[in-house]
Amino acid sequence: MFYSGSPQTCTLGVGILTEVPDGPRYLVGMTSSELKELAVGMGEKPFRGAQLADWIYRKAVLNYEEMTNLPAAFIARLQEAGITPTPLRVVDHRRSTDDVDKLLMDAGDGNVFESVLLPYEDRVSCCLSSQVGCPMGCTFCATGLGGFTRNLSAGEIVGQYLALQSLSPRRVSHVVFMGMGEPLLNYDNLLAAIRLLHEEVKLSLRHITVSTVGLVTGIERLAKEEMPIHLALSLHSPLDDVRDRLMPVNQKWPVQVVVQAMRDYHAITGRKVTFEYLLIHEVNDTPEQADALADLVKGLPCVVNLIPFNYVDTEHGFARPHRERVRQFKGRLAGRGVNVTERVERGHDIAAACGQLAGQHQGKFARRGGVTSLPVSS
Ligand code: SAH
Ligand code: SF4
Repeated sequence: MFYSGSPQTCTLGVGILTEVPDGPRYLVGMTSSELKELAVGMGEKPFRGAQLADWIYRKAVLNYEEMTNLPAAFIARLQEAGITPTPLRVVDHRRSTDDVDKLLMDAGDGNVFESVLLPYEDRVSCCLSSQVGCPMGCTFCATGLGGFTRNLSAGEIVGQYLALQSLSPRRVSHVVFMGMGEPLLNYDNLLAAIRLLHEEVKLSLRHITVSTVGLVTGIERLAKEEMPIHLALSLHSPLDDVRDRLMPVNQKWPVQVVVQAMRDYHAITGRKVTFEYLLIHEVNDTPEQADALADLVKGLPCVVNLIPFNYVDTEHGFARPHRERVRQFKGRLAGRGVNVTERVERGHDIAAACGQLAGQHQGKFARRGGVTSLPVSS
């Protein structure tokens, strides 16, 4: 691949670019070798391509003005050819009172999606979107309620990371795919983005987490990639009748089948896996389900991560569980030897849960009660 999309109208490393390709093209999304080919195709030495890669991927500089070691004439030719550094424009930036930054991005077609920066004491993590919307239809999820628009390209996925890194004085070392969309439905672009994050941005694959609703064919394929990516399954109930109601995907791949796929993923990659468990009041927070969950994951090196439901106004009237029920559920699992954690909730005042800010922007969903947010820019 020469440009991050088609059509391709220039020669691969031989001669000068003579035709301007149709439509916008972006640096983010190209590999170092593609950037070198781009430079050579425009009459420059290959090291100019390496400098471009250095600015975008290593320094998270996403505008030509700051790329000070490049000749003005080369930048002018890139601009004339309609090649811009990143496909993304930040349309909203909010910072929560507990230092979570949330960006709302537009990829030039008016569709918006979100990305979140999460600084912790020992690391800085970020949460990226893989699709605009999501077709999986989970009944508790703001993104699912909004329907599906399209897959994001590898450049649009990595562009989110770089936009967040450019906000952070500290290195963003961890990536989780828990924003909008089902990553394994956008498999090829997801893998291309992960390769760019690993090979160009130099992130450890072990610090990249893919969260899936439970697409078994995707899990099996990922296991064979020989990449030690961390995999998380959104389980949300050990019982098929409850999971069926929450997640339509369960009708295709029921609990036992998807958990077996996670066991196989562990056996092949050697990586401990995570089970995300969203707790909804009196739906899946019962002692019976805690016991059935403990039995289900027995013997598998894993962590169960409890996530209290983040209120979304659904037609099912789902509610957040009481603190005491969360404590009991957690205690019951721990008592049966399960390694259990509870998600530290951050960014509440900027609606940092899956899909919520984008929904507000499009006016699609009800706001969470009492939201106060601090716009940083717009
Ligand atoms: N599609 C993937 C990844 C994106 S969703 C998946 O489903 O795993 C990321 C996580 O947010 C999932 O565990 C999902 O179940 C959870 N989530 C969705 N809606 C939520 C809500 N209202 N409150 C809390 N977590 C939610
Ligand atoms: Fe899609 Fe994940 Fe939301 Fe389900 S929870 S609708 S898979 S984004």
